[in-house]
Amino acid sequence: MKRIAVFPGSFDPITAGHVEIVRRALPLFDEVVVAIGNNAQKSYLFSLEQRMEWLRQVFACEPKVQVDYFENLTAHYCMRIGARFLIRGLRNASDFDYEKTISQLNHIVGQGVDTIFLISRPGYSHISSTIVREIIRGGGDASPFLPAEVVIPPSA
Ligand code: ADP
Repeated sequence: MKRIAVFPGSFDPITAGHVEIVRRALPLFDEVVVAIGNNAQKSYLFSLEQRMEWLRQVFACEPKVQVDYFENLTAHYCMRIGARFLIRGLRNASDFDYEKTISQLNHIVGQGVDTIFLISRPGYSHISSTIVREIIRGGGDASPFLPAEVVIPPSA
């Protein structure tokens, strides 16, 4: 049976921290689906189309990576595509506290879906999409935290 893992997130936008987690997850699975969990009620800095386009560009040369998006529950999405694993990155203790409960819930709702945690490498643990959005909104240069493919338009 193919080992499929989903790496879910808002990816608003995808950062160098996300890419690092995906690269380290690749040897563990046959396929990694980087999937935007899109919530129609939530407002994002970048459109779903823009976020998807960046994911496609960043992983264009990686045949084991698929990109996708879903609405509603992550665990149901995993079941729908036959993924038995979720990947999450851990930067610090507050990530852990939050993710621990979510992973326990996903195991029940997803009928056995297991979450695999990768601890961020020291050079990446300060990077978050939230901080990147703050820099962009403030007119700063967020490029040190972004993959080369993510070029922020001046109007963002
Ligand atoms: P969410 O909207 O669910 O917080 P994000 O797009 O912010 O999603 O992040 C998706 C996943 O990537 C989460 O597991 C998060 O912990 C992880 N992540 C984000 N930034 C980093 C980083 N710098 N190092 C390691 N993991 C990270």
